Amino acid sequence: MDRYVELVDWLSVLSKRDQEDWREIASLKCACTDCPSYTCCAKEKGEGLFCLEGRTKESIWPEGTDTCRCVDCSLALNHDFTEQYYCVKGSEGELRSGA
Ligand code: SF4
Ligand code: SF4
Repeated sequence: MDRYVELVDWLSVLSKRDQEDWREIASLKCACTDCPSYTCCAKEKGEGLFCLEGRTKESIWPEGTDTCRCVDCSLALNHDFTEQYYCVKGSEGELRSGA
């Protein structure tokens, strides 16, 4: 079982409160705020963790093919995430299921 699947399974058995606490800590590791494509609107809305929560509700248009910071993100590296540009492509789970 890869570490993404383990993470999803582990999160699924946590209480809502514990899930929220985990997401709060995980969002501090999210490298999107260092990305040149991350907008002030997205920042004001506290957006991030697109790999788990899906596409942006704000307008993030990646500025180039090498701007995404997900490749260097500890969350992605520690949990076998396979994609980038989650803000526009959707979450890891959506992409794995072909949604
Ligand atoms: S993988 Fe990308 S979207 Fe997910 S936490 Fe890291 S930087 Fe943010
Ligand atoms: S998912 Fe990638 S391209 Fe989108 S804001 Fe985060 S680091 Fe930037």
